[in-house]
Amino acid sequence: MIYLDHNATTPLDSRALEAMLPYLTERWGNPSSPYRFGSQARIALEQSRKRIAGHIGCAPAELVFCASGTEADNLAVRGAAYARRAQGNHIITTAIEHHAVLNTCKALEKEGFRVTYAPVTPEGTVDLAALAANIGEQTILISVMHANNETGVLQPLEEIAALAKHHGILLHTDAVQTAGKLPLPLAATGADFISFSAHKLYGPKGIAALYVRRGTPLVSIITGGAQERGIRAGTENVAGSVGFAEAVALAYDSAESEGQRLRLLRDQFEQQVLAAVPGTRINGARSPRVPNTSNITFESIDGESVVLGLDLQGICASTGSACSTGDPEPSHVLLAMGINPRAAQGSLRISLGRSTQAADISAAVEALRSTVHKLRTISSIGGTGSAR
Ligand code: PLP
Repeated sequence: MIYLDHNATTPLDSRALEAMLPYLTERWGNPSSPYRFGSQARIALEQSRKRIAGHIGCAPAELVFCASGTEADNLAVRGAAYARRAQGNHIITTAIEHHAVLNTCKALEKEGFRVTYAPVTPEGTVDLAALAANIGEQTILISVMHANNETGVLQPLEEIAALAKHHGILLHTDAVQTAGKLPLPLAATGADFISFSAHKLYGPKGIAALYVRRGTPLVSIITGGAQERGIRAGTENVAGSVGFAEAVALAYDSAESEGQRLRLLRDQFEQQVLAAVPGTRINGARSPRVPNTSNITFESIDGESVVLGLDLQGICASTGSACSTGDPEPSHVLLAMGINPRAAQGSLRISLGRSTQAADISAAVEALRSTVHKLRTISSIGGTGSAR
């Protein structure tokens, strides 16, 4: 198998698994229990928090563990909206966010909040002028992702953070696709809330974290016990936290060198695919991007068919977010970039990772060349014309 879908999930690093095993076997205590068996688990949990905080560039107390990136996004957006409700009801986000943010905003609209979905440029970066123009008296929260999961395009967060700070508005960023991929302590983005998830950086599934800048108002969205300083009730995933911390340490230690290696492979892939397959364009290629991601539009065919064709040849890739699999609608991200619906439907996301080698790139290009050729030959869709 050639796995080229690392933005969907990554394999658990064996070193992270090894670190977790004692907490899945003999040290299974509840970290809230008062006796030593419980304290042992508590110490492991707090050590994990401290290790992760060291890489994120924050204090351990600024990290709240939760179960997924989706939950971290929900906690930030809902929790901040509820906390600032007395000051206003307007939220600004972008049209290209992950559904964890978009659908939370849509749910909040039903509760009386007003949400602006800021547009992006054809190259996939948020239109800063449009975002700024929408800020008003009632604006309480801005939520803009750090890198888009489909295109890899990085957003101008520092400018957005300056804008939010100037207006006294809270800023959330979904950094699920940048944590561990960039050699950057995420707190340096200047956001008040930052979501990131273990399974995207070779950690276990079922654990993630939300950075909450010290003193930032946030209302809990899960009611129950006093775990995570009352912000996120529920018995903590101790083994998960230990694996998460190990995975974060490993990912940050190699982010610089691995990023360079993957950028080279990604660029080779894009050059080769453009040369081998006519009627192809790379989406967001002129913007700064995370090094591992490539989003390609093939004219006149359906991306889902390409994914199936590649699967038959042992290659895993996707049309976009794994959460949208089976959704017949074209990608909301590509539509927001102005790509026409039929062309957006012919798009594929390739996301490289630690296992990717040069031979995988050549094999993927050859598989794409033959698959696209075959599909175009039998296609009844007809030409989409320009990719926009
Ligand atoms: N945000 C982004 C940008 C993502 O890519 C994903 C997962 O694909 C999520 C949030 C959700 O994270 P999780 O799978 O941990 O719920």
